[in-house]
Amino acid sequence: IEKRVDIEIGKRSRERRHKDSDLLETVEEVFDKPTILAIIELKNRGCLAELKGVVAAGKEARIYWAKNRNGGDLAVKIYLTSSAEFRKSIWKYIKGDPRYEWITSLPSHKLMSVWAKKEFSNLRKMYEAGVSVPKPFCVYRNVLVMEFIGSEGVRAPLLKEVVEMGKIDYEMAQKIFGIIIKNIYKMYWFAGLVHGDLSEYNVMIHNDNVYIIDVSQAVSLSHPNAHVFLYRDVMNIVKFFRDEIGLEQYSADKLFDYIV
Ligand code: ATP
Ligand code: MN
Repeated sequence: IEKRVDIEIGKRSRERRHKDSDLLETVEEVFDKPTILAIIELKNRGCLAELKGVVAAGKEARIYWAKNRNGGDLAVKIYLTSSAEFRKSIWKYIKGDPRYEWITSLPSHKLMSVWAKKEFSNLRKMYEAGVSVPKPFCVYRNVLVMEFIGSEGVRAPLLKEVVEMGKIDYEMAQKIFGIIIKNIYKMYWFAGLVHGDLSEYNVMIHNDNVYIIDVSQAVSLSHPNAHVFLYRDVMNIVKFFRDEIGLEQYSADKLFDYIV
């Protein structure tokens, strides 16, 4: 397989030398071969033209800034390897979701591909339901291409960061809080999904817009713990705004009742 990949990469780079040469030019990362092939395939499909620098590196995935053929910004999420810890942590979201129960028995690279596809499908459902998420464009293997939230390669700050920097006042915070709750509501009623990992770390603030990100673990309402996850999501948000901003008047129980 290694040899075939070598031949394939060699063949493609000979065929498209001047076309692919700038694809990874500014990226210093070392990708494994299947990931390079996936990126080339996405380029051939017209999904992206150039991969620029890394934006953020999580434990299982990295986010890159990329350009499309028209020079527009893109965000590319590349799922790398799955640790034993990751497998354990995703099990609770998969168990009980008939769509995905079979995936934890997969080898690492396959698992990451399914996980990327799952995030893409969740993003699409949410986007179509009018939830404020980055617009999803393409997915292939372990690589997902979506709208870049930020400008000129600089990602927008997370909710956690704007609050830490003291960039929002009470009134603004109240507005953002309301928008987040509205998005949870839309996610529930119009996309049939519960985020499952919502917190100040998975909300971005850009040009007065609020974006919900990181939706790979979102579960459908038929998941037996969907409402437990929903309550936890609402509680995380209520707590953050209560402790960090002093929004005292919102009760997680009432908001939960309102949403469902
Ligand atoms: P972590 O473990 O750090 O939460 P993750 O694997 O869950 O990482 P995400 O939360 O989806 O991945 O993305 C990691 C970071 O990349 C985010 O905190 C955010 O700063 C940035 N990011 C994610 N999506 C985008 C996007 N569409 N545009 C710009 N930046 C993004
Ligand atoms: Mn995250």
